Amino acid sequence: MTPVIALVGRPNVGKSTLFNRLTRSRDALVADFPGLTRDRQYGEGKVGGRPYIVIDTGGISGDEEGIDAEMARHSLLAIDEADLVLFIVDARSGMTAADEMIAKYLREHNKKAFLVVNKTDGLDAFSHAAEFYALGMNTEPFMIAAVHNRGVSTMITQLLDNL
Ligand code: GDP
Ligand code: MG
Repeated sequence: MTPVIALVGRPNVGKSTLFNRLTRSRDALVADFPGLTRDRQYGEGKVGGRPYIVIDTGGISGDEEGIDAEMARHSLLAIDEADLVLFIVDARSGMTAADEMIAKYLREHNKKAFLVVNKTDGLDAFSHAAEFYALGMNTEPFMIAAVHNRGVSTMITQLLDNL
């Protein structure tokens, strides 16, 4: 079975940018407007001859109403559909209450999930990663800069190796 990987996190952390990297597509809408991807978006990728499916989501901000509530609902459905979840956080904005809420959801649903600290470009990535340890994810975070494609192929290779 082709593994299904869901990208979840707050709006604007770089999920769609990472989706495009992982699927080498320009299908996912990337924008400076938080939450532009309203729905779920599926794409395929391959590394070392091994295929995988990626789901991009609109994001979960924790205080949603109306269209944002729908977006959050799709994000939770994507988590349920996935074999593994990449939980994306933003090294620049630091940890937020919404990040803690998502971490709690993943724990309660016993999902195989990995923390991904994005936007590490131009930062002392390790000092910025430290605060995210409080999220209580069990594994070392992946440090990436999706927009520069940094750390992305190492991450996906390791993930597929450990499935
Ligand atoms: P999403 O809402 O989580 O899907 O986030 P997007 O992929 O739409 O990205 C939101 C913004 O963050 C865009 O302006 C991206 O160019 C920017 N972004 C994404 N990845 C990185 C990164 O690695 N470094 C920096 N500096 N910006 C990034
Ligand atoms: Mg998006």
